Amino acid sequence: MNKPVKNSVRLSNYFMPTYKDNPKEAEIVSHRYMLRAGMIQQTSAGIYAWLPTGLRVLNKIADIVRAEQNASGAHEVLMPTIQSADLWRQSGRYDDYGKEMLRITDRGDRDMLYGPTNEEMITDIFKSHVGSYKQLPRNLYHIQWKFRDEVRPRFGIMRGREFLMKDAYSFDLNKEDAQYAYHKMFLSYFRIFAKLGVQAIPMKADTGPIGGDMSHEFIVLADTGESEVFADKKWFKTDMTAKGLEYNDREGLSNFYKEMSGIYAATDEIHKPEDAEGVDLKTARGIEVGHIFYFGTKYSEPLGATVQDNEGNQITLHMGSYGIGVSRLVGGIIEASHDDNGIIWPESVSPFDIGLINLKISDDSCNEVCEKIFNELDAAGKEVLYDDRDEGAGKKFNDMDLIGLPWQVTIGPKGVKNGMAELKNRKTGEKSELPIDSVVEKLS
Ligand code: ATP
Ligand code: MG
Repeated sequence: MNKPVKNSVRLSNYFMPTYKDNPKEAEIVSHRYMLRAGMIQQTSAGIYAWLPTGLRVLNKIADIVRAEQNASGAHEVLMPTIQSADLWRQSGRYDDYGKEMLRITDRGDRDMLYGPTNEEMITDIFKSHVGSYKQLPRNLYHIQWKFRDEVRPRFGIMRGREFLMKDAYSFDLNKEDAQYAYHKMFLSYFRIFAKLGVQAIPMKADTGPIGGDMSHEFIVLADTGESEVFADKKWFKTDMTAKGLEYNDREGLSNFYKEMSGIYAATDEIHKPEDAEGVDLKTARGIEVGHIFYFGTKYSEPLGATVQDNEGNQITLHMGSYGIGVSRLVGGIIEASHDDNGIIWPESVSPFDIGLINLKISDDSCNEVCEKIFNELDAAGKEVLYDDRDEGAGKKFNDMDLIGLPWQVTIGPKGVKNGMAELKNRKTGEKSELPIDSVVEKLS
């Protein structure tokens, strides 16, 4: 019997169905690789089941988003997927949303819907408990499945009908405070994408009737992106982590926001050549992975969400909402990071840290060395995918490149005789030999 491990798996008893050939239905690389690596399976148009490897990535992304939203002072809640139509009638969106909204009737003939977003519900929850300016500011978020009956679901989980979103909602007494809430989310998004190992550029977006400059789409550049974008080349030299800046530094955040939103970037919907005069512009395509928005009293007004200020006046709350496409990011990261052989995961979201390849499972000495490395790396807190299948070397190497873990360790009979293992860096392709005894230390 094998020793139990914490975070690692043996491929021989895992569930990661891999495929050599590109599936015909997949038009873009992330969709192809996700299907071939056994990360997802379509169950109906635009609706997917997440298989173990895909789910590991999805959860890692959600955890990074969660940690940084918490650090910014937001609090996590969990609202249901199914909502009553009543609130949507109050806000006026029940009819506006049209066919994208999946409408359901319950057994009591009440109109229900599968939530495409949660402004109405969070506003209603908030107003039931908050009546005074002293309970402000607040920011509440959840990470929950949404449903939008998209006309053209495509590109796998990139434009799905059911998808996982992080959506946060801020509540403030006035526009100035709401601006500060917006700046906090702006910084939080920079840090989230930096931690995810992907560059997402904030682009000015349409603010509709609210006006002002407080709506940004965060866009990952990729040739397969659905939007055409125009960005100052300076973005590619900008450090996106804003080290040292604290969320409670209101002035620092405001300056950071001014500086960053001063570097030109806009999607085609809003881009005007005259606004970008003199800018060294890059035209590219991009994937919207996040969207932040200040919308004032658009929902608080019709839903009657007010608080009393320090003079006893009833004030309508100022709100913003802040979305991240958690499931779309899985594809977005692959679009931004892959080669002809497969995915190249950034370390922070990789389903495993290390792939361990046993070239000859009929060889006791290979098995012994692999078991030892496997158990020790796992005990050191590493997540290891151990390929102990009865398969040829070619298939093992191909699968390992396809699923794109940052490090590969290969153990074969020749190496074992000489006490040597091979280490490969997936991103650079660099291979090196190292003593078997030093593998664990080198990788932990
Ligand atoms: P899009 O313009 O791509 O349709 P949206 O502007 O309608 O998106 P938002 O309402 O801003 O989307 O939702 C927040 C985030 O949720 C988006 O930035 C995107 O990352 C993600 N998202 C939206 N629709 C989908 C979808 N159909 N499939 C996967 N992710 C999605
Ligand atoms: Mg959007």
